[in-house]
Formats: sequence, C-alpha cells, structure tokens
Amino acid sequence: MTQLEFIEQIIKEKEAVILDANDKIWSYAELPYEETRSSALLCSILESEGFTVETGVAEIPTAFVARYVVGTGKPVMGILGEFDALATLSQKAGCTVKDPVQNGGSGHGCGHCCLGTGALAAALAVKEYLVQNQKDGTIIYYGCAAEEGAGAKQFMARAGLFDGVDFVYTWHPADRNEVQPTCSVAIMGANFEFFGRSAHAGACPHLGRSALDAAELMSVGVNYLREHMIDKARIHYAYVDAGGTSPNVVQDHSLVKYEVRAPKVSQMKELFERVVDVARGAALMTGTTMKYEITMAFSDYVPNDTLGKIAAECMMEVGAPKWETSDYELAKKFLNSYDPVTLETIKEDIVQTYGGDQLAKILERPLDDQVHPYVAGVHEYESGSTDVGDVGYAAPTLNLNVSTCCIGNVGHTWQMTAQAGSVLGHKGLLTAAKALALSTIRTMESPEVMEAAKAEFVAKTGGVYHCPLPDDVKPPVGRY
Ligand SMILES: [Zn+2]
Repeated sequence: MTQLEFIEQIIKEKEAVILDANDKIWSYAELPYEETRSSALLCSILESEGFTVETGVAEIPTAFVARYVVGTGKPVMGILGEFDALATLSQKAGCTVKDPVQNGGSGHGCGHCCLGTGALAAALAVKEYLVQNQKDGTIIYYGCAAEEGAGAKQFMARAGLFDGVDFVYTWHPADRNEVQPTCSVAIMGANFEFFGRSAHAGACPHLGRSALDAAELMSVGVNYLREHMIDKARIHYAYVDAGGTSPNVVQDHSLVKYEVRAPKVSQMKELFERVVDVARGAALMTGTTMKYEITMAFSDYVPNDTLGKIAAECMMEVGAPKWETSDYELAKKFLNSYDPVTLETIKEDIVQTYGGDQLAKILERPLDDQVHPYVAGVHEYESGSTDVGDVGYAAPTLNLNVSTCCIGNVGHTWQMTAQAGSVLGHKGLLTAAKALALSTIRTMESPEVMEAAKAEFVAKTGGVYHCPLPDDVKPPVGRY
C-alpha cells in the first residue's frame, strides 16, 4: 500500500465524522473568540482519537493544542486549523440565491469550517500513520481561534507553542488547487484617542480645544504621508467617535482606528511609527493630548520553498477534487449569482490567470480540476494579511490552497458561506486533508528536507520569533 493509499483509507473511515463536524461548525457560525461550540467539538473528536488536548491556550478560551506522541516524539509536526465565522454572512448551505438562515446572522464566508475539519482529518491520518507503522513523532493540531478577529496564532507563538516544532502545514479554502505562491503583508491596528476641552462653540470657542479637529488633522497628515511610503503599503482608518453630534459644542474627545499594512513586518513597524508621529503632530497643532493603543498585529507570510516543493509534489499526487457534472452545474449557478460588475471583473481575472482561450470553458465548468505547479523563488505580495504569517516566523510553515468553491469566487460573501456547507466544501476539505497528511508524512520521512526547511526558515526570519505586538497587548477576548 502506498502512503497515499493508506491516507485515503484512513480518511474514508473518518469521512462521516469529519463531514458531520464541518456541517455542525458551519451551522454554529461562531464569531472570533466566541467559537465555544466549534472548539469543543474539534477537541472532543481529537480526545476520542487519543490526542492530549490543552484548551484555553495563550489566554484565549477557544484556542487549543492537541498532541499525539509516538515513541521518541521526534520530529514534531504541526497542522493549523481555524473555525471562526464572519458577521452578516448567514446563508443557506448550497443555496445559489441570497437566502440567509438568519437575517443579519453570521456565516462561514471564509470557509473556516472546512479549514478546521480538513486539517483535523489530516492530523488524524498522520496519527494513524505513526501508530500503525510504529514511527516516532509528535503530531500537533493547533486550534487557532479568531483568524478573522485580532488573531490567535501570534499570541500562541508568543506563548512558545511553536517552540521546537520542526515544520507546520496548513491550508485555506480557495477557488484553485496550488501551494500558495504568494506572500501576505504584515498589519498593525491601533486606536488613536484625542482629548480636548469642550466649550460653547459660539460664545467662547477660544476656550475650547477640539479633539475632532485633531482627528481630522491626523487624516490630513496621513494623506500627505501616503505619497512617501512604499507602493505595497496601505493605511486604512475609521472614525469610531467623532466627538458627538452637537456642532455648537467643541468636541472634547475623538477616537480613530487605524490599520497599517506593509510587506515586511519591519516595514510595517516603521510606517506605523510615522503614523504615530502624525497623530502627535495633530495633537500639538490643536492643543489636545493623544494616546494610542495597539490592538492587533500580524507578521507577513512568506512560503517556505523547501516545504513548498514537497507539498506541490504531494498535491499533484493527490490531485484536484473529483468533480462531477452536478458539481459543475452548482458552481456555475454560484458564479452567475454575482452582480454584472463583479462578474465582469471575475472574467477579466480568469483571462489573466488561465488565458483567454480558457474563458468559455471555465464559465461553463467553473471548478478547478487541476493542481497548478509551484515555482520556488521570489514571491509576490498580495494585499491581505493573516496570522499564519506569525507561525512562519516561529517555525518552517507552508499554506496550501484547495478548491472548495467556483473559480472566481469572491471571499467573504454569502456565496462562500453557501459553498462551504455544500458538496463543494466537502470534496475540497477531504482533498485538502489528503494533501496535508501526505505532505506531512513525506516531510517527516526526509531528515534532509526538514534540515533544509529549517535552514531556509532561519535564513529568512532569523529563527527567533519576535511578536509584532507589545508584551502588554492581550488577546481581545470579549472586547472584539
Ligand atoms: Zn480565511
């Protein structure tokens, strides 16, 4: 029996439990830091499989670590799972017209139900491989809460939970089968608060000091800053408190939320400091005082090429999900559910990615039925951010993308929620499980690959994790 045949057999045995867990977590649709039932379900399955589960890690009640140790326990292998949902994206499973389960309710619009249960199936398969073949090793399933919130993985890394881990694999639901070829950017979020002095805006404005003016001058200053930052950087902001609703009162308080993104964590920190300087300047100009609080930060994600090459071979061996005619028909309905403007953009993207000659075929059969090759070397940055980046600064880490939805699907939409709870999500997560398990086993069985992955990790990151968050910033449990 080949390694893949072994994995396929184990996953077949566990399939009913895994798909049931996906559908339950899909229906719980719990928001970041509130994933109580989703987390408990994953833990109970892992415990029933003999894993030792530690809950509430890194001061996050819904984050956990589940370990299974065989023999010497070396090497130590990690698989990351997520399971949080998004607000307002409730939608009936498999339903191709907008029809929420609950109006305004949450939904798995990023497919993290599939992510968590596909990763679970992979961890169970690796465990069986160790046990039945009497191989030494530790397989760890990381229950990573709140990826859509302020994250968990950077707190887990700061707590040392990835120390001594030889390598880590994870995956994300996608419209394509590939080792993720791109990097994601680092991000830092903070609240800037200005304190002024209220006064009658007509009678005695000279006694007032406006916190609203300060917030506005901060926006002006940051807008001037934009010309003098690197192209790939982004600065976003939102007014949380503009000081009140009375123009005839000088506003004595304001609060603005900022998020700063840049490719490398070092660039992000440098740019963030310049934003803080702008806020200081705004306070000085208005005679107000300013304080800021960093609320979240993720490091950038960079693929580990050594793991990337192994995983790409494994993905080729596993193949794409086996789509049937009815799957293509369902996917086509989802694709056509997008509004005309979005659909036009999707078509342009398909032409750019697959070539114009493929457009007609893909619009008719919009599911990825192949595994795309991986090119090691220089990777483009995409403008999103993820806390998987922090794991990559703590241990050699790699992310796979596996198809769970129609080609061109837009993330964080009701369409994604519907597909994550459908046969498309099911087939994708089972395929991802096989690819993750095979990649883990292949890496484990090659000491040279593990050494090379570690050397690459040290060269790229320095090999010692530094959390981008100050030590006193705690996970915002109950405050997010
Ligand atoms: Zn996601």
